[in-house]
Amino acid sequence: MDFNLSPEHLALQGKARDFVEQELFPHELECEENNGISRETHQKIIDATMAWGFNAPNHAKEDGGQGFSIFEQTLLNEELGKATGAIWDALWYPAYPMRFATPAQKAEYLIPTCQGLRRDAYAITEADAGSDPNQCQTRADKVEGGWKINGEKWFVTIGDIADYILVHAHVDGDPAKATVFFVDKDLPGVEVKRTPMYTHSFAFKHPEFIFNDVIVGEDKILGEVGQGFEMTKDWFVEARLGIAARCVRAAIRATEEANNFAANRIQFGQPVRDFQAIEFMLADMAVEIMAAKSMLYRLSWEIDQSVDRKRNHARASALKLHCSEMVNRVCDKAVQILGGRGYMREQPVERLWRDVRVDRIWEGTSEIQRVIIGGQIKKRGLDIYTDW
Ligand SMILES: Cc1cc2nc3c(=O)[nH]c(=O)nc-3n(C[C@H](O)[C@H](O)[C@H](O)COP(=O)(O)OP(=O)(O)OC[C@H]3O[C@@H](n4cnc5c(N)ncnc54)[C@H](O)[C@@H]3O)c2cc1C
Repeated sequence: MDFNLSPEHLALQGKARDFVEQELFPHELECEENNGISRETHQKIIDATMAWGFNAPNHAKEDGGQGFSIFEQTLLNEELGKATGAIWDALWYPAYPMRFATPAQKAEYLIPTCQGLRRDAYAITEADAGSDPNQCQTRADKVEGGWKINGEKWFVTIGDIADYILVHAHVDGDPAKATVFFVDKDLPGVEVKRTPMYTHSFAFKHPEFIFNDVIVGEDKILGEVGQGFEMTKDWFVEARLGIAARCVRAAIRATEEANNFAANRIQFGQPVRDFQAIEFMLADMAVEIMAAKSMLYRLSWEIDQSVDRKRNHARASALKLHCSEMVNRVCDKAVQILGGRGYMREQPVERLWRDVRVDRIWEGTSEIQRVIIGGQIKKRGLDIYTDW
């Protein structure tokens, strides 16, 4: 067994680290002070992403992406996770299900998105449909030459800068016909209802949208009628691994900051790290990261080798659950170690602490991950989590 990263993997890791420090870190305070980045900053990051060769890491080279393996995506995502304010989201991963697009849809949507010329948002959640997307009220009805979409979507991340939205709707209002549609944002009937504020400062916004008699062509269905959930399920594996990877490096950055502070902050005539209360917190943080990172690398490597979709899905839930809960514990301790300074927005640990809270909520809450894991243990046995 060889657990070492190959020279190619080390080179990718180093390049991703340099990218984040040189191209993303300089915009962190702008993002914090303005609750977002300007169009100009966004364009700068798009240009840098293209120049460094990190655009669309998850899509095939022939579609204009980088064709990264899952393990390579993990190495990149991990480094991205140390940037605060979700500036990492300026480096785009076009929605996974677009790999099932027709050649014409790829030419119109996927390829220009991979090239940084267009941007997608993905809208499933609604007022009454969160953890249970079967409750979606957004519907699509057949009309002459196309489809008419009506409904409302919440929390549409990047809805402010995306120029098209992948909308999850029920054909004829039937949950068995859950279907994804390409909806251009400038179509008549597409409106922003509200742009709420959230706990984190985020590079982009999460508006709510209304779709009022929006007409799209026959060719705007992604996949087939009724395939909406299947396509999203595969995407969850990629998305949950991405979250887990970002959580690991966010925890490392918070711990580095806390470790440096504890070494230099003198109270009662000694560095605070020499108080066992502080040293024990640092010890727990290091051990938490070591365990989570081992799990992340193992699973990312395994998924590249595995064709068992259900097992990948089951294990990705465990990883997302563990890493998102771990980073919240670690960032909370980092804030505590910095004392009052840890509560100042100018400090990365404070921003990380706010940023990572959502990782226990989006892409399936911690409770939903436990529901999946519990169900898998019942159906397939404990081995799915405990064998090696
Ligand atoms: C910042 C942000 C960005 C987002 N971006 C997007 C996006 O781009 N596109 C999109 O479609 N959605 C997006 N979401 C929505 C996100 O995926 C949902 O918030 C999430 O899935 C939870 O749904 P909910 O908020 O409706 O909570 P609910 O489903 O109403 O859950 C409420 C509580 O009940 C618990 N619960 C629910 N069901 C069960 C169960 N079976 N067993 C135990 N506990 C349960 C939940 O864990 C939670 O604690 C975003 C959310 C946020 C906060």
